Amino acid sequence: MRRKLAAGNWKMNGTGASLAEIEALAEAHPTPRSEVLICPPATLIAQMAWEAKGGPVMVGGQDCHAKASGAHTGDIAAGMLKDAGASHVILGHSERRADHGETDADVRAKSEAAIGAGLIAVICVGETEAQRDEGDTLKVIGTQLAGSVPDAATAANTVIAYEPVWAIGTGRTPTLDQIAEVHDFIRAELAKRFADADGIRLLYGGSVKPSNAAEIFATSNVDGALVGGASLKAADFGAIIAALDAA
Ligand code: PEP
Repeated sequence: MRRKLAAGNWKMNGTGASLAEIEALAEAHPTPRSEVLICPPATLIAQMAWEAKGGPVMVGGQDCHAKASGAHTGDIAAGMLKDAGASHVILGHSERRADHGETDADVRAKSEAAIGAGLIAVICVGETEAQRDEGDTLKVIGTQLAGSVPDAATAANTVIAYEPVWAIGTGRTPTLDQIAEVHDFIRAELAKRFADADGIRLLYGGSVKPSNAAEIFATSNVDGALVGGASLKAADFGAIIAALDAA
């Protein structure tokens, strides 16, 4: 059985005052059936992890460097995230791929570093609108999986997030059939490489909100969601957690 996971990506949003949202979330959902993860900006990880200790909310990073230490100004090593109290790290988000030119090889190296540091890697893949329009979605996803997911991946240390680039922050989502097609494909691709592929959780991400969460969570091979905008407010993210718990 794959335990469901609701993961929030706060991106470059949030200050100390935002920690109240985590308190409210933990109060409203003290014992969720699903796992709950929030990935705040790096500035909040240590404090959030401290305040969330013993509660239902796990804390993660949004990126890490592939090296353990060194002359990389502004970067954060996987071991540093772990040291700050993180349990997970999002890697290969399309905004990192687009804004920082991260390649599949970069994402693979970062994922290896994350797993080596004892973090769970949440590896993102997803097609652009042009790629979908060209009929290349599965080809693109297959290439990203092959290039980004390291051989060391297991059900215990890796989560895959399917995030169509055109659905992120746009309010648009694929049809449920399109989500199922990609998630079934990802499961089959992972099965070619990993003995425990059936246990690797697959999240859908892209404009998940309280109003569409239940139908997405009822879709084939969807084990949870990676949520951006709707994870910023405890009430919205709580409603998504409730939908996942009920799925
Ligand atoms: C994301 O950035 O991972 C994401 C899914 O964003 P949103 O939910 O806002 O579309």
